[in-house]
Amino acid sequence: MSHSFSELGLNEDLLQSLADLKLTVPTDIQTKTIPLILKDTKDVVALAQTGSGKTAAFGLPLLQHIDVENTSIQTLILAPTRELGQQIFANLTAFASHSSEISIASVCGGIPIKPQIERLKSPTHLVIATPGRLVDLVKRQAIDIQNVSTLVLDEADEMVSALKVDLDEIIKILPKSRRTLLFTATMPGAIKQLIQNYMSKHVVQVEAHMETKGHQGIDHQYIVVEPIEKLEILLHILKSKEGQRGIIFCKTKAAVNKLAKNLAINKFSSGAIHGSLTQGIRDRIMGQFREGYIDILVATDLAARGIDVKEVAYVINYHLPDTYEAYVHRSGRTARAGAKGMSITILQEEEVPDIADFEAELDIRFSELKKANAESIAENNALIWANKIFKTKPNREVSESFRNKIHTTFHHLTKDELIDKILAQYLLQNTAVSSKSEPYKKKKNK
Ligand code: AMP
Repeated sequence: MSHSFSELGLNEDLLQSLADLKLTVPTDIQTKTIPLILKDTKDVVALAQTGSGKTAAFGLPLLQHIDVENTSIQTLILAPTRELGQQIFANLTAFASHSSEISIASVCGGIPIKPQIERLKSPTHLVIATPGRLVDLVKRQAIDIQNVSTLVLDEADEMVSALKVDLDEIIKILPKSRRTLLFTATMPGAIKQLIQNYMSKHVVQVEAHMETKGHQGIDHQYIVVEPIEKLEILLHILKSKEGQRGIIFCKTKAAVNKLAKNLAINKFSSGAIHGSLTQGIRDRIMGQFREGYIDILVATDLAARGIDVKEVAYVINYHLPDTYEAYVHRSGRTARAGAKGMSITILQEEEVPDIADFEAELDIRFSELKKANAESIAENNALIWANKIFKTKPNREVSESFRNKIHTTFHHLTKDELIDKILAQYLLQNTAVSSKSEPYKKKKNK
């Protein structure tokens, strides 16, 4: 990575924007793909994940290729989610800040289509779209993609799984003579098939080193738990991170919903995002997280793609991810832009051997986080319980006479006495259910 951006052949306008953005050293994937896209005409398959700088890797040379005299759409970038689409749009707009004649439009799903139809009436050179919305616009004859000369499939592995039908429909309309650039974090069979069906036989393949900037500054830890204590341990970790921003990853939408509900019950300020929620809800939750109104995001892998929120202090894998790439994506949500971050994986005893595989494959080191002892967990539970009471809003529906009766019962107690009694009642109930060894007891003088 000894190159500078100017050595890669980028023009002055783009170099100026990069300087404004304080981006000085190209990442590995940028060094490999920028000259290739600029000078060559071949199709490209690039293995790279979020955090590798892939958006600039295709965005910069494609902006340079735009012929501003030609008012038709020349470049089409497809992204699997609106979050990613918006991020690409924001990045490309920033890269083109000194190339004012280039017109970029984003037409992603989940938001009203009418303003997009209006927008597309103005000359546009480059379009970023999610496949479903693009198909919709094509059907309404609101967009003409027949002159597209370059197609980018970003995070293509996410598109072949869920959006293949729309993708096929779009590719059918595009000119056969186009150039296709495909970016993917993984190379499943479906991607290989797509390359075979839709790309030239002379495709050039490039691969970014796994040690992307996303890896630096992350402290990787794992903690071994029994299934039954998983939630308690998580709550304990979250309590220790109060006031910091974090993301918890679950494998399924159902798991995300269940966990978010549990966090809400325990009065942790959190929000859930996954693919089945409407775009409006996803945007609102993301906005609240970005602005700091909620500290914790519970998410599935797909929904979390493209999340570029600074100051995410920690990431928790509530389930061990299925693939190494998913781990890179997840942990890459923290320690962004040179900050430090922590990635904690909660797993069961039988999964511990997998850690060595993750270490070997990703060239990272994990340390074991020791489980809190029963005493500290029980104490934590009691604190969460107290916090729940603190945050409970008084019930105004209760009748005056009934309320008075309850008040009279406690009438002679001071606040301290009342607290002691409620606590005693809590302990009575909780030590009765769990067989834990009286962890709240005073330490005997030895
Ligand atoms: P991406 O992989 O495109 O999602 O980029 C991830 C993050 O890296 C974004 O916040 C970019 O602004 C940032 N980035 C991209 N290229 C560079 C670079 N050459 N040096 C430093 N940061 C970069």
